[in-house]
Amino acid sequence: MNSIRVFKFGGASLRDASQVENVVSIIERYKEQKLMVIVSAMGKTTNQMEEVVKHFDNKTKALEKLDIVKQNHLAIIRDLGLSKDDSLLSDINDLFVEIDWALDEPGQTYDYNYDQIVSIGELLSSKILTAKLKQNGASISWLDARDVIITNDIYREGWVEWKRTKENIATKVKPLFNEVDLVVSQGFIGSTNENNTTTLGREGSDYSAAIFSYGLDAEDMTIWKDVPGVLTGDPRKIRNVSKLDNISYREAIEMTYYGAKVIHPKTIKPLQNKNISLYVKSFIHPEGEGTLVSSEVDTQYPPIVAIESEQAIISISTLDFSFVAEHHLSYLFQEFAKHRIQINMMQNSAISFSVCVNDIDDRVIAFTEQIKGSFKTKVERNLELISIRHYQKDLVENMKRGKIIKLEERKGDMTQFVVEDIPQMERI
Ligand code: ADP
Ligand code: ASP
Ligand code: MG
Repeated sequence: MNSIRVFKFGGASLRDASQVENVVSIIERYKEQKLMVIVSAMGKTTNQMEEVVKHFDNKTKALEKLDIVKQNHLAIIRDLGLSKDDSLLSDINDLFVEIDWALDEPGQTYDYNYDQIVSIGELLSSKILTAKLKQNGASISWLDARDVIITNDIYREGWVEWKRTKENIATKVKPLFNEVDLVVSQGFIGSTNENNTTTLGREGSDYSAAIFSYGLDAEDMTIWKDVPGVLTGDPRKIRNVSKLDNISYREAIEMTYYGAKVIHPKTIKPLQNKNISLYVKSFIHPEGEGTLVSSEVDTQYPPIVAIESEQAIISISTLDFSFVAEHHLSYLFQEFAKHRIQINMMQNSAISFSVCVNDIDDRVIAFTEQIKGSFKTKVERNLELISIRHYQKDLVENMKRGKIIKLEERKGDMTQFVVEDIPQMERI
């Protein structure tokens, strides 16, 4: 059997009918090959589905929000000339009925409800893309990723159970390629051992594609983006960025961990473990070379900037002026883990300990509530973490100018500092 290549298309590449046609034309360029295509939800569907979940307790309002999603998808189906595809229409209708039922399911947690509803976005997009490819005559199979990717039951952040997932890819996905050349499935979603739908965390579709790549021993994986490849910074936030032609897995994991949103940070490990090359290419200029992420690359990197918003600094000190000792730190780290708080930077002195963390939902508040009997805490929110790898002094000075630095650290040739969130226009 020819080896399989894995493609991942994100929401921006599928945001309307003409973009879907563009994705179809990219896939059709690779007709001679065996392709596994992983898709995200179309455009801003995930955000819109989150609005449905927020109104879970008010069904009328939730259905109103859901109708926005429905009308968007029906318009795309119409614009793609698929309105007469009864099988597609019936599948789409069933998916919306599933949400209706989920809205009636009582007594579950917010995170559980979230996954049952938000996951439908990827099922919708993959059904529509499959129908369009079929209409164009492709030999294609649609696969429900929930039959393959098995996770634990941490809803909204499922951890992959690798053993079962690998078995499923070997027994349920590989054989499909004996029948067809193209398999379309969903990013972002999985299922527990009890068959409840889970999601892998926001922006998790890249990670799904890497899981499939690992299990299939893919020849390579490509993520198709609205940028020419991995750049030296986010072009939406920084001027004068340039494309990196080659980067190592290590460079990619470091920059994405600290906020370079172009690749989900969990994507790299499964690929590195099997030495599978990752390409980041433009869906706008698919003929471009993009960026190749692979094992060690012999290159002098330019400065690379990653900016992570929605940061908080939690400053913790003892109540009685005693040292922050090992047993305190041990307790604090247990509580961080329990509250699923990711620490990006930390600093300690004799009687205080400060961390910069991702400020997600109400986790920081829940954490400080939990420890307030034993420690004094101060929380500063709406901060940004700026990380500069391979930094040059001038660039760092430029980026710091006019900003109040809340926390700063230097390790090797990386420097990081936390500042107040900066309006777009005031950046360098
Ligand atoms: P998707 O449609 O796959 O979800 P995203 O919008 O999440 O794609 O990711 C692409 C965006 O990532 C780009 O438009 C760009 O603004 C942003 N980005 C952040 N850091 C970088 C970087 N270092 N290189 C390229 N793009 C970056
Ligand atoms: N649709 C999901 C999100 O928007 C997953 C992804 O796009 O990667 O977060
Ligand atoms: Mg995205």
